[in-house]
Amino acid sequence: MSFKRFKTEKLIRDHLPSILRAKRIVLNERIMDKEEFIIRLKDKLLEEAQEVNASQNLEDLSEELADMLEVIQSIAKATGLSMHHIEQKRLEKLKTKGGFDCKIYCNCVDIEENNPAITYYLEKPQQYPEINSSEHEIDCIFCQIARQEKSVELLAKFKHCYAIKDQFPVSAGHVLIIPNEHTENWFTAPDEVRSDMIKALHFIKDQLDREYKPHGYNIGANCGEVAGQSVMHLHVHLIPRYQGDMEDPKGGVRGVIPSKQKY
Ligand code: 5GP
Ligand code: ZN
Repeated sequence: MSFKRFKTEKLIRDHLPSILRAKRIVLNERIMDKEEFIIRLKDKLLEEAQEVNASQNLEDLSEELADMLEVIQSIAKATGLSMHHIEQKRLEKLKTKGGFDCKIYCNCVDIEENNPAITYYLEKPQQYPEINSSEHEIDCIFCQIARQEKSVELLAKFKHCYAIKDQFPVSAGHVLIIPNEHTENWFTAPDEVRSDMIKALHFIKDQLDREYKPHGYNIGANCGEVAGQSVMHLHVHLIPRYQGDMEDPKGGVRGVIPSKQKY
């Protein structure tokens, strides 16, 4: 009978040799010294962590977490750390740094070059690679929505833009059409983005017609602070208008300078 050999190269649980031999699996094992044992235990923890990560259901997860706990306890024992000491550390950290109950995900951090705290990140380039980003993209609320870092209800997604409800609607159904890529205003946007936004306007208008049945619309983009722009990432307002929503609506977008609305 010929054998097939499979490389394993890992620390195994104490009863596995006899369990495997009972299944007529021949083990080529050895007993490690303490130093190697600790190294292998640390590797084992990574292996178990990957299995926790890959677990598909709660039953699998509980198995893998049990393995992880076993490895953690073995590392403590092999290195002479008491679990009580580790638990104390855990509680201390919980007190000062908190736990994970708030579900906070940090996308990136920005640190001034002369801030001493920067060394923490510079020393771990694998864990914290430096990435390019311009200031506006970091702060810009509409970039954050495009990158799905802020959860909002997307009304629709298009090739170059997306549509959301305005947080402070001027009228029922007020929508913003916003390009995915940061650009300051209508005039700085590439042609293909603008034409996609026009398509989006029509698509959303049809949706609003069905849902809100307005009697008219205002379409508007504030370009520049003096024109009233407050979010410096292009967005086109699509504002449904309803019979009687203004006493005398004449002048419409001329109302950006209220004294000149009527002519
Ligand atoms: P503008 O720059 O055109 O003067 O005004 C920005 C518009 O964006 C406002 O109508 C404001 O209500 C809306 N807005 C600002 N921040 C948010 C936000 O976080 N989510 C949504 N949906 N709308 C926002
Ligand atoms: Zn932006």
